[in-house]
Amino acid sequence: MVKKLTQKLKRVYFPIIKKRDGDICFFCLMMFVNEVSKWNRTYHHLNKNTEDNRPENLVFAHEECNRLCEDKPDWQILSKEKLLDNEKYHQYAEEITAHNDEDKETNVEIDTNELYLKFAKEILTDKLVGKGGNPSVEESLNFKDTANDVAYMVKEVVGHGSSITASRALDLECASLADFEKYKEQGGKWRIKKRKK
Ligand SMILES: [Zn+2]
Repeated sequence: MVKKLTQKLKRVYFPIIKKRDGDICFFCLMMFVNEVSKWNRTYHHLNKNTEDNRPENLVFAHEECNRLCEDKPDWQILSKEKLLDNEKYHQYAEEITAHNDEDKETNVEIDTNELYLKFAKEILTDKLVGKGGNPSVEESLNFKDTANDVAYMVKEVVGHGSSITASRALDLECASLADFEKYKEQGGKWRIKKRKK
């Protein structure tokens, strides 16, 4: 196992991680800002073992978020789940590379992260806003079920879907500037509705 995450290794991993997760901070989902040191890109070790430099164990994070993670149990849980998820994805990635030797024009070029964002937006828009001038189908949606639906749609395209990644795409669609919002119903389950402007 490689002990140190060298600059060279970072150059090798950068496109792999970018393709898997997008070039955004794993924790806050925001972009990196080179001019501001706390918003620079770092490589966060999901299992906290800085000698475990497998790409599965690495995600991009802001310097600040990487530091804040130390005191945030929910981010630590998210890290553990993401590692399990990456380990599955990685196996799949090898599979698809082998498969694509026969047919180079297929799925390998698809940015999986973009698919999650696309399907999350599509599903929320179709069901909560309405499609093609038709009224919306639902007033609100169960967050977890919707995440599973998005993961399923991604799986249909690339052969692997993760409800964790789907949840994060939905979270982004529920950001305070976005068209939807997330709220907790009685009983503590999360739901999503159209944001009142
Ligand atoms: Zn961040």
